[in-house]
Amino acid sequence: MIIDCHCHAGRGDVMTAPWNTDAPIEPYLRRARAAGIARTVVFAPFHNDYGIANAEVAKIVARHPDRLIGFAFIHATRDRGHIFDMVRHAVTRWRFRGIKVHGYDAMPTRELCDAARAFRLPILVDVVGKAAVVDMLAPQYPDVNFLIPHLGSFRDDWRAQQLVCDQLVRYPNVFTDTSGVRRFDYLVEAIRRAGARKVLFGSDGPWLHPALELHKIRLLKLSPRDEALVLGGNAMRLLRGARRTPLPGFRSTSTSIRRSRAVVAAAGTVGDASMELEL
Ligand SMILES: [Zn+2]
Repeated sequence: MIIDCHCHAGRGDVMTAPWNTDAPIEPYLRRARAAGIARTVVFAPFHNDYGIANAEVAKIVARHPDRLIGFAFIHATRDRGHIFDMVRHAVTRWRFRGIKVHGYDAMPTRELCDAARAFRLPILVDVVGKAAVVDMLAPQYPDVNFLIPHLGSFRDDWRAQQLVCDQLVRYPNVFTDTSGVRRFDYLVEAIRRAGARKVLFGSDGPWLHPALELHKIRLLKLSPRDEALVLGGNAMRLLRGARRTPLPGFRSTSTSIRRSRAVVAAAGTVGDASMELEL
């Protein structure tokens, strides 16, 4: 099963560029179906209010429940004090399975990473070329999976992409997606050095064509087993652990998440509240 782990859906309200104006899902879905893509992770474009944007994504996901999987877009500083509640709402009401953060807004904070840990959600964080932050995040939250799109730089900053290749090797909880990566041999290198388990197919639709991005994976000429991991197996593994209720000891307050010592011990287990991913 092919899973596209990176696509935008809904409207932005900033309207200064395509990525903050409109991400129409219908043309994407037609292209994806023709390309054989079965499931797609979707999140909002840039927005001034991610509460509104996430609700719109939830409506879109509800229209295509067999094809779309929602992630909650969070602004780590503007939404501070409310992140746990935003994530809980997205997971319990909408069955979202991950968090999207963009470095143009703000890099992930402890509050955000704690919320991801509580619900066992992956964080897809665009580090906008500042790949060094991964060296802070990954060891601080070894039980949270960080998915770094574009090998760290949509704008082809090769230094960032080289560093992310290196981080894929060094940290078990760091992954990348292939969306928008033009420098093909960096994808070859990432898989050769870090293994196919660390690389996920993503398109950055609807602005990039999913079939074109998918063809890049075919061109890697991986073994059938490795190609299956990149095209969907890895995504399924990362999405599978999501919980609808937080791990014991995590709770929301008006300004922060209080975390008991017991949580650290419990963080490695998946309880009854984990959601089965119906794929
Ligand atoms: Zn994107």
